[in-house]
Amino acid sequence: MGLLPEKYVFILRHQHATHIARLHAGASGASSALAVSAAQDIQDLYNSAGGKITVNGASYTVKFEVRGHALESKGITGEFRTAGKIFTNSDPRNNFFRVENQTSSSGGESFSRRSGNDGMLNYSEISKRGSTTEAHEIGHGLGLRHNNESDYSSLIKGKPDLMDNRNDRVQEKYRSKYALPDGSLNLDKREVSQKNIDDIFTPDVINSLEKNGKAAIGTTTNTYYAPNGQGFNKK
Ligand SMILES: [Zn+2]
Repeated sequence: MGLLPEKYVFILRHQHATHIARLHAGASGASSALAVSAAQDIQDLYNSAGGKITVNGASYTVKFEVRGHALESKGITGEFRTAGKIFTNSDPRNNFFRVENQTSSSGGESFSRRSGNDGMLNYSEISKRGSTTEAHEIGHGLGLRHNNESDYSSLIKGKPDLMDNRNDRVQEKYRSKYALPDGSLNLDKREVSQKNIDDIFTPDVINSLEKNGKAAIGTTTNTYYAPNGQGFNKK
């Protein structure tokens, strides 16, 4: 299955900065519904932050619009067609994610590329309504790093945010709220924070918004992933 979200044009309108994104899913099975529900999960999580940015001295609420679409991937022909769309995409709003039960021959978690627009999503991590992994991977595409890049089992001392990790531990006094029984982070508890929003809207992005009224975040990386997780770029 393939899934592709889209990215990031911000249009300033009155008191709102609108973030438009599209999420396309291509695939075998019920991928159209999956693309729509994953897109909705992404949109809801980002909007629940009620994030604010300041542009030319005025405060704006950031509103995310994320739409999901299925991409064809039936048989070799479908795969080629989908690869062609990915290779020729020049719109950074388009994000392409392949969805499979495994993301490599040895299993694997969802992955994406920082400031890019492609990756793979593990079906089990995104199929549930309210899952946060799809928003986390999109976060990487929007330039976000893990909160603790050097220590994958660092301690979360309070409310977890979007860029905390599966292997992070939750401080004792917050465990009943945010952890699984083994003390590790319950991924469903991740929320987008104002810090996440601040990290997406870098000074360069704000500068572009101030000058042009819009900004693209991230780039097109044009990688097609085969079902086994191998990535291909157009030669
Ligand atoms: Zn990550």
